[in-house]
Amino acid sequence: MNTLNKLLQAARFAAERHAGQLRKGAHAEPYINHPLEVANLIANVGKIDDIEILMAGLLHDTIEDTATTSEELIKHFGVTANGYVLEVTDDKRLPKARRKELQIEHAPHMSRGAKIVKLADKISNCRDVLENPAVDWDTTRRREYIEWGSNVVAGLRGANEDLEAQFDVIVERATLEFGLVGE
Ligand code: ZN
Repeated sequence: MNTLNKLLQAARFAAERHAGQLRKGAHAEPYINHPLEVANLIANVGKIDDIEILMAGLLHDTIEDTATTSEELIKHFGVTANGYVLEVTDDKRLPKARRKELQIEHAPHMSRGAKIVKLADKISNCRDVLENPAVDWDTTRRREYIEWGSNVVAGLRGANEDLEAQFDVIVERATLEFGLVGE
C-alpha cells in the first residue's frame, strides 16, 4: 500500500473510533478535527513527510480516548506508528495530576517521532485553550493549562524548530492575555 493510502486509512480509522466525541471548546467541534489538525501541523509546519509520524499524529488519541488497542494499531498500521502512539498515551489508571506530572518527566526521554507528535498535540490543545476554551474554564485554569503545556514542551525541544516556534507564539499570546508565570 502506498503512503497516501495508508495516511487516508489512518484518518478514516481515527474518524470511526472518535465518532460521536466532541472537543471541549465552546464550538464543540467533532473530536476528529483535533487529530487532523495535529497531522496537518506535523506535515505543514514541521515539514515532516515521514509516514509513520504522520499516521501516529492521526492515531495519537485512539488508545487513550477510545476502545482501540495497541494490537489493532499494529495490525493495521505497523509497529513503528503504534510505538509512537504508545509513547504519547497517558496511563489512565493513574490520577490526572500524576499523569500531567509524568508527561513533563517523560518528554525528554521520548523518541524524536513521538516528540514531534507531542509538540503538535500541545500546539493544538494550547491554541484551543487560548482561542476557543471550554465555557466553564476560567482564566486561571486556562493560564495553568498553558503553563503546564510549556513545561512539557521544554522537554521536547530540539525535535523540530518550526513546531517549537509555533508553540512559542501561543505562549507569547497567552502571556499578553493572562500573564504566564513562567517555567
Ligand atoms: Zn491529542
